[in-house]
Formats: sequence, structure tokens, C-alpha cells
Amino acid sequence: MSEKTLFERIIDREIPGDFVYEDELCVAIKDINPKAPVHVLVIPRKALRGISEAEPEDSTLLGHLLLVAQGLAKQNACKDYRLQINNGEKAGQTVFHLHLHLLGWPS
Ligand code: 5GP
Repeated sequence: MSEKTLFERIIDREIPGDFVYEDELCVAIKDINPKAPVHVLVIPRKALRGISEAEPEDSTLLGHLLLVAQGLAKQNACKDYRLQINNGEKAGQTVFHLHLHLLGWPS
């Protein structure tokens, strides 16, 4: 069996994470090194290495991640926000477990 990703270890509570949301498909935690007043990572429980590994069967999951991020933006009073996915090292990906960044600026 391959080694767990950092985010799998956080999801499994092996290392600490500041959880702000979770459901059967994903979790959301505060980024440890925030780049905006609100910086949350929305992470699927399914450990895809990146968006490039997603298949048509993951469509519902991917849509769900977007809607969870949108809901968290609302919850944090952010009308202005950016949703970002880095894929691959050159694009800035450092954790190889798919995640969506919510970067938000409260109104
Ligand atoms: P990436 O660069 O792969 O798109 O994003 C990885 C993100 O994970 C970075 O913004 C980084 O600050 C965050 N990160 C790395 N290690 C940890 C950790 O142990 N806990 C939390 N909450 N975030 C982390």
C-alpha cells in the first residue's frame, strides 16, 4: 500500500488540522500559511494526486468541492474570493493530494 498523503493523515486525525467543515466526500481546513484573510483548503477524502487524475466518474465530487467552497465563502462573509487548484510542481503544487484553495476577502 502506498504511503498516506499529508492530507490523508490530517483527515485521519494523525496530525492536527483546523477543521472548518466536513462531510462524507470532503473536509475543509484552514491553510497553515494563509495567503488571504480567509484561506481554506477544500480536500476530497478520495486521494487523487491532482486535478489531472480526475476522471468523468469524479464529476459529482468535483462539483461538490466547488459548492462547498462557495458555501464557506458565504459563511465567512466573502463576496470577493478566488478558487484555485495548482496542478504539478511548476504550477506551485506542493501537496500531491487534490485540494481547492478558497482565498477570500470578507466584505
Ligand atoms: P499547494 O501548494 O499544493 O497548492 O497547496 C498546499 C497548501 O497546503 C499550501 O497553501 C500550504 O500552506 C498548505 N499546507 C502545507 N502543510 C500543511 C499542514 O500541515 N496543515 C495545513 N493546514 N496546511 C498545510
